[in-house]
Amino acid sequence: MADDRLESVLQQVIARNPAEPEFHQAVTEVLHTLQPLLARRPEYLDQRILERVCEPERQVIFRVAWQDDRGVTQVNRGMRVQFNSALGPYKGGLRFHPSVNLGIIKFLGFEQIFKNALTGLGMGGAKGGADFDPKGRSDAEIMRFCQAFMTELFRHIGDHTDVPAGDIGVGGREVGYLFGQYKRLVNAFEAGVLTGKGIGWGGALGRTEATGYGVVFFVSHMLAARGRSLDGLRATVSGSGNVATYAIAKLQELGATVLSASDSSGSVHDPAGIDLALLRQVKEVERGRISDYVARRPGATFLQGARPWSIPCDVALPCATQNELDAADARLLVSNGVLAVAEGANMPSSLEAIEVLQAAGVAFGPAKAANAGGVATSGLEMQQNAARQQWTFEQTVGQLARIMENIHSTCAATAEQFGSPGNLLLGANIAGFQRVADAMLAHGVM
Ligand code: NDP
Repeated sequence: MADDRLESVLQQVIARNPAEPEFHQAVTEVLHTLQPLLARRPEYLDQRILERVCEPERQVIFRVAWQDDRGVTQVNRGMRVQFNSALGPYKGGLRFHPSVNLGIIKFLGFEQIFKNALTGLGMGGAKGGADFDPKGRSDAEIMRFCQAFMTELFRHIGDHTDVPAGDIGVGGREVGYLFGQYKRLVNAFEAGVLTGKGIGWGGALGRTEATGYGVVFFVSHMLAARGRSLDGLRATVSGSGNVATYAIAKLQELGATVLSASDSSGSVHDPAGIDLALLRQVKEVERGRISDYVARRPGATFLQGARPWSIPCDVALPCATQNELDAADARLLVSNGVLAVAEGANMPSSLEAIEVLQAAGVAFGPAKAANAGGVATSGLEMQQNAARQQWTFEQTVGQLARIMENIHSTCAATAEQFGSPGNLLLGANIAGFQRVADAMLAHGVM
């Protein structure tokens, strides 16, 4: 019965949201794990919680017109999907990337609902962004784009309404321009309206590091549950942005050798271990390509257009983007003896890849649990803003470590309770969904 209803809700979602394959994938992943919960809690079906949770509360799509350095007018599409506010103000990042479309923002917003619930903090789920390509744009162009984007977005956000943050293509620089324009438009310094702010003007120490560090804290708990530690293990990481950089830093600090990093042009394989200072110089300071790293690093090789999953490793952390680890990659990882895969990026593994990893007994840490450290620390930034305080780096990161430990134990205990010990995907989906669903039931029909 529950199975039939789940399948019919999924088919409805697919029919009502055509041409949005990433959104279908995210919904499928969650719904396919909820059967044991629905068998115990039929009121979720009776009250149509599944149908409601798959329908965003509000979606805003807007034109962003701005002038480039040559004086030519450019037109982009901006959007914000405010998915669910049962647990608190909408919360989720903004992505600036040419691939952005409504289906991608909806998949990210849907994931964000349950991720935010898992942190234990009071935050609803949302996501936004634009199909703007920051690559090759001057600083002045980035600023004008951010100002034009915020000139529409500002009317939909606020510290009790919706609190955006960064994501792909939106880092500290962009959050600065977005915040400046918001402040100008509302004529008030509402520090809590955006997170990921600069340290001197409302940002939390440790927010920049939080997602990458959090993934590594999470994978440490996954390994500890199997009697292992990161010390002496070989890790592969994809990406070379915010999440990848601080995942690499924490892996190295805990004694792992990190063999790879990547960007959209390909991967670097560095058998001596990634030189993080050089990687940051190339990607963060020079805003160059990952091949520039190889050119300056003896012994490193460039795998053009390839992902790093063919490099033998004990731990793999996909930290770049969605669907960057498919079934063939998963089979390669398994045949090379991988122990654990934890998702730093959002939905980096295809549904088939997850099946391959789980069937082979590889420990699998799903994104909504493993990368929740970023938004959790955004929640801590909001707390500091509300109290007009700034905690030390150690206070914030200590709190992050405790939150990641809690998320891991909640997922593990829930998996056990629902008859699938070790299945952190099922544990994360059920625990996150249940918290949101109970709040929705309490709020009545809306
Ligand atoms: P950044 O923009 O800092 O870095 C993104 C990295 O991924 C870059 O190395 C980029 O390469 C690469 N990348 C982007 N798109 C593609 C693509 N289509 N194919 C291959 N590589 C690609 O973003 P973040 O590090 O912030 O985000 C990375 C992932 O982590 C995303 O999935 C994001 O949603 C997720 N995430 C981020 C959080 C955060 O706090 N920042 C929190 C939770 C999840 P290139 O330079 O060539 O574009």
